[in-house]
Amino acid sequence: MQIRLPRYLLPFNLTQLPHSRVEVAVIGAGVAGLRCSLRLADSYEVEIFAKGSPEKTNTWHAQGGVAAALAADDSAEKHAQDSLKTGAGLSDRPVVEKVTKAAPELIRKLVSSEPVFNRSENRLSLGREGGHSCARVVHASGDATGREISQILLDRVKNSPGINLNLNSMVVDLVIDQGKISGILVVRNGRLEFVETGALVLATGGLGQIYRETTNCVGTTGDAMAMALRSGLSLQDMEFIQFHPTVLYLPGAPRFLITEAVRGEGGIIRDISGERFLSSADPRAELAPRDLVSREILQRMILTDSSSVYLDLTEFSTDWLENRFPTVFSTCQSYGLDISRELIPVRPCAHYSMGGVLVELPGRTAVEGVYAVGETASTGFHGANRLASNSLLEGLVLGDSLGREILQVGLVKTSRPAGLKSSGLTGSRNLDLVDVRKSLQSTMWRYAGILRDRDRLVRARESIARWIELTATVDCRTPADLETINMLQLGLIVVNQALLRRESRGAHFRTDFQTARDKFRCHSTVCWDFQENCLDSGWRAVEQ
Ligand SMILES: Cc1cc2nc3c(=O)[nH]c(=O)nc-3n(C[C@H](O)[C@H](O)[C@H](O)COP(=O)(O)OP(=O)(O)OC[C@H]3O[C@@H](n4cnc5c(N)ncnc54)[C@H](O)[C@@H]3O)c2cc1C
Repeated sequence: MQIRLPRYLLPFNLTQLPHSRVEVAVIGAGVAGLRCSLRLADSYEVEIFAKGSPEKTNTWHAQGGVAAALAADDSAEKHAQDSLKTGAGLSDRPVVEKVTKAAPELIRKLVSSEPVFNRSENRLSLGREGGHSCARVVHASGDATGREISQILLDRVKNSPGINLNLNSMVVDLVIDQGKISGILVVRNGRLEFVETGALVLATGGLGQIYRETTNCVGTTGDAMAMALRSGLSLQDMEFIQFHPTVLYLPGAPRFLITEAVRGEGGIIRDISGERFLSSADPRAELAPRDLVSREILQRMILTDSSSVYLDLTEFSTDWLENRFPTVFSTCQSYGLDISRELIPVRPCAHYSMGGVLVELPGRTAVEGVYAVGETASTGFHGANRLASNSLLEGLVLGDSLGREILQVGLVKTSRPAGLKSSGLTGSRNLDLVDVRKSLQSTMWRYAGILRDRDRLVRARESIARWIELTATVDCRTPADLETINMLQLGLIVVNQALLRRESRGAHFRTDFQTARDKFRCHSTVCWDFQENCLDSGWRAVEQ
């Protein structure tokens, strides 16, 4: 299939753009970008670019917590084993070992002076989540872990004179010169600028917004993954999207995630007739891995012709629920639900992208001076499925390691590439891009969601390819338009890679190939072939 991909989204002539220079540019103010910036701040001048305020990051909304082997009966090896098992044969063992080994000390340091982390009898209290063989999840203010971690990191950033936090700036594209980073194109205060930089960290999070039903914040549109693709970098494991099983489903209300920790404490899932059905699918029942629980829920919804199943917390007292899960309690209450007496309607939603920009530890890409970290990167840690609460952990551990790496490697000597210009996406076609975005989201949900098969994936690929062709001659100017173009490109990639993986593994389930196949026990990779105007997919061996 031939499709023309624009190298740059906006028209520009580099010599005429406003020009500034910063030693290190970090795109993203979530856990990964902030942690990395803090490590660099004593040695370099760092500028963080973010599309919006910190509350608009997925990090801020993380509820459950951070996994680390802190209990007396736990160990980094056990944590690694659980991560590898959930990763369904696609996790790279050296990466898993590095992150799980670093976790206990790093988390202890982070939380030691912070009273918001929940404790009982002077010890950190550890929650239990699906796929973990013991209680291992550190949490803060009950179920507001992400908000508390964000605030801790942001306070430190604000107290670091070396860091400039630049909210409301959208990075649109990377400028690469002779195989090295040169800078970024940024829309700030409504105008396009060129920011030259000696090191660039991509940390824009995931791409959940390509799905109609998602837990992700509105800005989670995979921008850095798409920018990397347009810059010739490879993406890895893009077919693996994790669907969270229990998201509040009240028509008109936001898709608010009900943390897995709720099930860890004994919450039960029932179908519309009140039957507890998960135990017949897996002995771990409500605590089975997310992919299995999500599929079972979806199949039960189809079987019972209902739009949701129900989470039952009525066994717990109001006081306990209010104290242990304050955000869940108050959010449901604001929609008229008293969760100590009533069942909560829930259904699965797109939640996390295991795939991303292909990196080598701790975040090196194939372009000198360009790095990726957090949900944007694909390190091989999560494999085909992410273990609950391993994502904030990855951002903290590898954000820190990547900062150290940049300190060690140093900055690229840059200059402004002479004569660089582009016509970007431009044209007079009259196309409603808001409608295109909605159509993409519906298509991804219906045809490339929890249950996939060849025919529906082919249908999705054809539609998305057509929209990409149509949008090539549309004048894209607003940030939302630019996001939509990024989303289309990534939707195409997800669907294409899902078609190539003719097996079921981890979060990727094909109803026409229902089991895992040995020949596919490898990472998928994809980049754009600009000469032939097509996708160039391949496979990479899993590191044992
Ligand atoms: C509701 C919810 C609950 C979760 N709960 C947990 C949990 O309990 N434990 C756990 O481990 N994980 C959890 N996760 C997953 C976890 O929160 C995320 O994977 C993680 O926070 C991602 O961090 P990040 O730094 O990579 O990106 P994010 O936190 O998503 O931050 C992305 C940043 O990039 C910026 N950005 C994006 N595009 C651009 C652009 N073009 N230009 C400039 N800036 C840009 C955004 O403004 C933002 O600042 C949860 C996720 C959700 C959605």
